Amino acid sequence: MLGCTVPTIGGLPKGFYWATKWRCECIQIYVTLSRRWDVSALSPEEVLTFKAAWQDSPVKKVVAHVPYLVNLASSDSNLRQKSRERLKTELSRASQFGVDFLILHPGSCGNSKKEDAMKRTIEALHAISKARGNQKTQILLETMAGQGTSIGSTFEEIACLLEEVNHQEFFGVCFDTAHVFAAGYDIRGYNGYEAVLQEFDSIVGIRNIKAIHVNDSRTDFDSRSDRHAGIGEGQLGLETFHALMRDPRFVDIPKILEIPELDTRSEYNLRLLRKLQALPGLLPKSKGLRKKLMREGNDTG
Ligand SMILES: [Zn+2]
Repeated sequence: MLGCTVPTIGGLPKGFYWATKWRCECIQIYVTLSRRWDVSALSPEEVLTFKAAWQDSPVKKVVAHVPYLVNLASSDSNLRQKSRERLKTELSRASQFGVDFLILHPGSCGNSKKEDAMKRTIEALHAISKARGNQKTQILLETMAGQGTSIGSTFEEIACLLEEVNHQEFFGVCFDTAHVFAAGYDIRGYNGYEAVLQEFDSIVGIRNIKAIHVNDSRTDFDSRSDRHAGIGEGQLGLETFHALMRDPRFVDIPKILEIPELDTRSEYNLRLLRKLQALPGLLPKSKGLRKKLMREGNDTG
């Protein structure tokens, strides 16, 4: 299942317009304005319009991303409290819209100790888990690049968070290809891809991966720097994406492309990924393969 982050300028339902145009089977959106703390209440009309637009589109699953200002691990109690409240609001909105997954960065420790930051995130996840009622949306912890003081960049940390919250139906993982690479997991090539997934499986469990962020990395291996690139334009190489797109374990898992330049670049990169998905065997070693793939034949994916 393939899709991308869609622009929602002009309102959330507008996202389905782009999804239809770009043939997305899944999309990622923000369900609140991402740079502000204050959130207005959701009206029943907004929910209806959203659901109607969804129904008229090819989209099977919608995932939402929690804005970056939320930091459950913060040592600042005021910011932590605001973050918890906001996560509740995000979950409530996502749930009203019928969103399947809500993707969350585990948080940053700032000047405090990592263990303490982990504890604060675990506490917050416990609290949200208790307060969720019968909301169906699941929270996915994203694997991080390890930029700054963020937690969740090692598989052990992700496993620890999941074990501590101990609620499989409510929590899972969003695996980000660019982040794991920047965090020091060498996912390049067919062998690298399989080795990293085996490592993830032994520490966290592949069954916990419920969404994948399909990104190439502009920055180097183990750089701890989070900068996405277009598919085949970064450090990962096309083999990793070929393996991922053809991996039978992830056929029904939303695979979301997140590139900075949303419009034409998203469409182009989605087409490239569909072409890779359609190619059996191993990719030939060719420097201009990316360009060649985009030139050849019709897009049948
Ligand atoms: Zn993210």
